[in-house]
Amino acid sequence: MLLWACCEPRRLSALRGILTDIDDTLTTEGAIPMGVAAALSALRAAGLPVIAVTGRPMGWSRAIAADTPLAAIVAENGAVALIAEAGAVRVEYADDAALREANAVRLRAAADRIVREVPGATLSRDSAGRVTDIAIDHAEFAHLDAARIAHVVALMREEGMTATVSSIHVNGWFGTHSKLTGAAWIVRRLFGRDLMAERDDWLYVGDSTNDELMFASFALSVGVANLMDFADRLVQWPAFIATHERGRGFVEIAESLLAARGA
Ligand SMILES: [Mg+2]
Repeated sequence: MLLWACCEPRRLSALRGILTDIDDTLTTEGAIPMGVAAALSALRAAGLPVIAVTGRPMGWSRAIAADTPLAAIVAENGAVALIAEAGAVRVEYADDAALREANAVRLRAAADRIVREVPGATLSRDSAGRVTDIAIDHAEFAHLDAARIAHVVALMREEGMTATVSSIHVNGWFGTHSKLTGAAWIVRRLFGRDLMAERDDWLYVGDSTNDELMFASFALSVGVANLMDFADRLVQWPAFIATHERGRGFVEIAESLLAARGA
């Protein structure tokens, strides 16, 4: 891993766009600072669309999609996209309505079983906004030890779900979508482009263990400095690390991108 300041500007001059995590990458203490909003506007004006990719729910993402100059938000680990258009937020789903309805019944049953069988397990407080997945809180407001986190993951897998552990939640869903498939879907939907064939033309920014798939998938991947909080758990590291943490780290990255384009 190299310091972001060491990235050669010529590698950044022809980028097509930026993919980024939200929590603790764009946000600082839960909010998007003014400096980050200004950087997102400047990137957009320079012809660099920014797509946010998050494990957060559709409901939680809606206000951010409405208020922030992002091209789109891919939420619920690739299942839902929110696109701000003409003053409204359009919501699109990777799965069709019939499949989502069938899955909703199975999601409720799986959530009931986990809460019943794992002592202390509770649904995350953002669960009301979730449409295609369930989330068990292990570190946001609740605390589950490693054995109980493993128990939750095992029950999700037994129910036929895909399960991931973020810094705060255990997420489970039906289907094989991911932050990467969701990003590829929305790049095709918005720009008619093939993200997987053009991975060298996109940059990814993240801050934690649930960004590892994206760090592994993009040669130009960057961690904001607080990624080091996960140093003992991280297997797949990004190519670069910013000097600053959270929103300030994102601004540091945006400034280099804008300078490389002469913007
Ligand atoms: Mg994050």
